[in-house]
Amino acid sequence: MPSYPPREMSEAERRRRAAARARRKKEIRRNRIIFAILCLALLALIVFGMVKLVGLFTKDKDSSSGSTSISSSTSISSSVDSTSEPASSPESGSASTSDAASATGTAATTGGGDADWLLTLVNNNVKLPDGWEETLEIKVADTSTGKELATVAADAFINMKNAAAAEGIDLMLCSGYRSVEYQQSLFDAEKQKWLDKGNSEEEAYNQAKTVVAVPGYSEHNSGLAADIVTPKHQNLDEAFGKTDAAKWLFEHAPEYGFILRYPENKQAITGIIYEPWHYRYVGVENAKAITASGLCLEEYLDENLQKA
Ligand SMILES: [Zn+2]
Repeated sequence: MPSYPPREMSEAERRRRAAARARRKKEIRRNRIIFAILCLALLALIVFGMVKLVGLFTKDKDSSSGSTSISSSTSISSSVDSTSEPASSPESGSASTSDAASATGTAATTGGGDADWLLTLVNNNVKLPDGWEETLEIKVADTSTGKELATVAADAFINMKNAAAAEGIDLMLCSGYRSVEYQQSLFDAEKQKWLDKGNSEEEAYNQAKTVVAVPGYSEHNSGLAADIVTPKHQNLDEAFGKTDAAKWLFEHAPEYGFILRYPENKQAITGIIYEPWHYRYVGVENAKAITASGLCLEEYLDENLQKA
């Protein structure tokens, strides 16, 4: 066995070890970079998934007649079917629309002739203004269903229904004004179901929210939202959009002051799935302007608030 001087040997060994250390460091650095990239990719995937989920499960809590395409709301739609809407609506005979306007304030400035209160925004994040119902004047808009709307919207609906009938199209108002009180009773009943299953107060509230709109946050509470179907197709589903009634509405509703509130390509902004049956009264001038702009109500109000 050859013998080397100890100094030379330790020198070679030192170099070898130094090289090995450098290699290890390099390897660790590379592993860290790969790990960071993987983490970022995973994060992006989670965010994408959550956005998709929100889009899938958030919907307008109409469910007052017919079945909906979202299975989670089936329970409430059947329970609402069997429950008649409140007969004792908080009608205020003395209030006029201008009273309502001054009490509810303005949502946006449009420069148009229609009253600004007709553009009041109500959605998942924006609550119906305080005092709204106290000054709201409502009346039956469709005698075949007994459903009510704010008087100004009811008159417009009656005109629209007559015009459609003259062209052989049968429109039917299957849901209109819902009082906040009624919405509250729906919500409480749903929440109780989750409490009975042993959920905490907070859990039950959050679960109920996915099925029934929180009272005051449904556009139907305003009296300006109308779910319109036709006797031959009463289900609130996407297939309604293919009916002659839906096509007629899509083309003519703005002439009577109604806009399609949750268009197919605006789900990310409205937070609500495409609802070919849900129309919102905003007044003729506003309806024509909004429809021509191709914007949904949220976008339209944003633009006009910026201009103002
Ligand atoms: Zn609706």
